[in-house]
Amino acid sequence: MPSYKAPVRDARFIISEVLDIGSLAALPGFAAATPDLVATVLEEGGKFAAEVCAPLNLSGDQAGCVRAADGSVTTPPGFKEAYAQFVEAGWGTLSQPEAFGGQGLPHVLGFAFEEFLSSANQSFAMYPGLTNGAVGAILVKGSPEQQQTYLPKMISGEWSGTMNLTEPQCGTDLGLIRTKAEPQADGSYAITGTKIFISAGEHDLTSNIIHLVLARLPDAPEGTRGISLFLVPKFLVNADGSPGERNAVTCGAIEHKMGIHANATCVMNYDGATGYLVGEANKGLAAMFIMMNAARLGVGVQGLSQAEVAYQNGAAYALERRQGRALAGAAEPDQAADPIIVHPDVRRMLMDAKAFTEGMRALSLWGGLLADLAHAAAGEAERQEADDLLGLLTPVIKGYGTDKGYDVATNMQQVWGGHGFIVENGMEQFVRDARITMIYEGANGVQAMDLVGRKLPANMGRAIQLFFAAVDKECTEAAAEPRLADLAGRVGKANGELKAATMWLMQNAMAKPDNAGAGAHHYMHIMGIVALGLMWLRMGRTAAAALDAGASERAFYEAKLATGRYFGERFTPDAGALRRKLEAGAEAMMALPAEAFATA
Ligand SMILES: Cc1cc2nc3c(=O)[nH]c(=O)nc-3n(C[C@H](O)[C@H](O)[C@H](O)COP(=O)(O)OP(=O)(O)OC[C@H]3O[C@@H](n4cnc5c(N)ncnc54)[C@H](O)[C@@H]3O)c2cc1C
Repeated sequence: MPSYKAPVRDARFIISEVLDIGSLAALPGFAAATPDLVATVLEEGGKFAAEVCAPLNLSGDQAGCVRAADGSVTTPPGFKEAYAQFVEAGWGTLSQPEAFGGQGLPHVLGFAFEEFLSSANQSFAMYPGLTNGAVGAILVKGSPEQQQTYLPKMISGEWSGTMNLTEPQCGTDLGLIRTKAEPQADGSYAITGTKIFISAGEHDLTSNIIHLVLARLPDAPEGTRGISLFLVPKFLVNADGSPGERNAVTCGAIEHKMGIHANATCVMNYDGATGYLVGEANKGLAAMFIMMNAARLGVGVQGLSQAEVAYQNGAAYALERRQGRALAGAAEPDQAADPIIVHPDVRRMLMDAKAFTEGMRALSLWGGLLADLAHAAAGEAERQEADDLLGLLTPVIKGYGTDKGYDVATNMQQVWGGHGFIVENGMEQFVRDARITMIYEGANGVQAMDLVGRKLPANMGRAIQLFFAAVDKECTEAAAEPRLADLAGRVGKANGELKAATMWLMQNAMAKPDNAGAGAHHYMHIMGIVALGLMWLRMGRTAAAALDAGASERAFYEAKLATGRYFGERFTPDAGALRRKLEAGAEAMMALPAEAFATA
């Protein structure tokens, strides 16, 4: 049975020391986030995740969700009780606005809790995770009446939310949506169509489910310019706010799938269901993007979460399992064999995992802080800057974070050797659960194209220039610190590769768009390396300063410097190779005619 302990100390290090949110106390929401409160939320949130949700991970995977003939869905044993505790403790309210019953705390704290919950049990965490995304869209685009009717109960966790984009013929390309919305005399709409792969589409955890559904009005323009967003409750809401008549939306089936078995992935049938327009007609995609952007960051955190829990179990096993002898001579001669952690190849996998998870935690929490600053920073320029950086980093957090998160989960399974392949040991579940994070919320190839095709050129490259400047500044400052000079040089070089790759795209992708498509994945990974390098420099500077100030937890801070050094030596060189792949362009990749791939 795998184990999990929330990395509370590391999250506190990043939030309170590296990002230093205490210095932002003058901003809305930050005053309440005192160091003591941050420590308590992380401690208690970590305890809830580890003690209530983690024990249900393996059993939930094995039991899965079950759909009855009437379309109702039962979650695995223990989920209902755990969810009731989640609601009772108010965990869903952390970063939600006080006006609707939230605690109004910064998102950066909410992100840390999301990671803990998802490491403990990704399937469980998805139920409130999707609600969060739906709440975000209603907060920005919902009418005041919709906000009053739905938000308090969704934020408390009494009701949950979903997002309904995908249809059988329509995945990435949302312009292909066919679900229809017919205007009704009372101002509502009759929604008809089939949505597939809807996470948490039906379940027994909440008394109502609020679906956000993309559909087309009768006179809508073709393609993505003709999509509107509708709110479709499972139970229509009575005047007193209680769930009333059952709406014409049902779960037709649940998918049997590779992982996240305890989260119901549903086919949802809308048979003239009553829906309400959210925001403006034909502007549904923009509204849904609010939800999708939040969800993309959330999925990046899921990638990290599976890497973290797999790393914890990989490291624990490497300390216990005895095979062979250290190359330099027996480490524990009185034992029949040394623990496998003495072998450099096992260390390679563990250090890769440690350098990624700690760097990625810093990057995703910085993303959470940027989400806060985009709304709460004092000046317009700072808000714009935060928004630009967040927009640029979102596909990187999602795409790079989940590609690497999956790699780490697989490597930690490798540390377990054959025992990692055995179901009851739990390592293979982390690999299976991590796999979906590379696919949903926009497959990673699409994230890479979002980065290269939309985020780079937006506003004449304003965001990428900001990013380059932030990395250059950090490299210059860190270069003056002897313990960080080597890392600063290596991150600076990787940033140089990123600049060169950017220039190459500018010169070679306008006339030949396939060059952008052929290099997008590589570009996203170079940027992931540089972004993590930036985080390691910031963490290194904080650790060095803490050591100089005589901090008592010397081992913790010294490990940061050592892991940062490893990151510099082992991650940053890939940036050069990736750039050379990118600069190879699309020619050989696209040379063969499509028929050459036909095997029959
Ligand atoms: C378990 C699970 C849960 C899900 N939950 C939800 C949910 O809650 N709500 C919801 O609406 N959907 C959900 N989805 C759907 C998910 O978001 C889609 O599967 C995903 O967006 C990809 O769409 P697709 O599967 O149709 O793949 P396709 O769009 O057919 O893509 C296939 C491949 O082609 C690539 N590709 C496609 N277009 C391009 C392009 N323009 N440029 C480059 N590459 C491209 C993709 O990267 C991918 O590798 C879920 C899916 C699963 C499996």
